[in-house]
Amino acid sequence: MSRILIVEDSLRVAAFLEKGLRANGYTPTIVDNGNDAIATALSDQFDLMILDLGLPTMDGLTVLDALRGQGIAIAIIILSARHEVNDKVAGFERGADDYLTKPFRFEELLMRIRVRLRDARKIQAELSTAAYLVDFRGIELDLRSRDVRVDGQAVKLSAREFILAETFLRHPGQILSREQLLDHVWGYDYDPGSNIVDVYVGYLRKKLGHHLIETVRGMGYRLKYE
Ligand code: CA
Repeated sequence: MSRILIVEDSLRVAAFLEKGLRANGYTPTIVDNGNDAIATALSDQFDLMILDLGLPTMDGLTVLDALRGQGIAIAIIILSARHEVNDKVAGFERGADDYLTKPFRFEELLMRIRVRLRDARKIQAELSTAAYLVDFRGIELDLRSRDVRVDGQAVKLSAREFILAETFLRHPGQILSREQLLDHVWGYDYDPGSNIVDVYVGYLRKKLGHHLIETVRGMGYRLKYE
């Protein structure tokens, strides 16, 4: 359930917004001045702010400056009687995501809120995907699905190949010895005389690119990084 902060000094407008938002499944909170708006938004528990500009003691634009200046990324829709182009430009330039003029139709505000919150969800989804992706120069490993792409083309890796590739991609430019790779990928006391690491590096070169992993004589292997 999305939490919406209403910053509005007109009791009538604030009550109207609160009632409408609640009826549409949102959880609204009202503050009637800039200082409370900043303090409440900083608590970081809101998904979106509806911001009036004409507020007592502190203008809505100053609230915008304060929040964006502190890196607060909450979605902000300005809802103001100021309808000049200059006012809108000022609002957008100072970090508002949208601008609706009073008088307004509640349906239009609702639609704009939905658009903003959908954006925020999409960004959230992209961020959480990023946490599962290891990528390096066109090679992408998805740690959840185990999908591998090279320049956008799907490539199949076995489980061992995948772990070996991930190990290299996480240590670009670093020399990894055969023993380190054996230990990390095979995870048990493999015969150190075995050439399994060399064999698998060969597989990866075939599947991911011949020049990706270089041999450092007498030391091991390294993901090229220059
Ligand atoms: Ca006002």
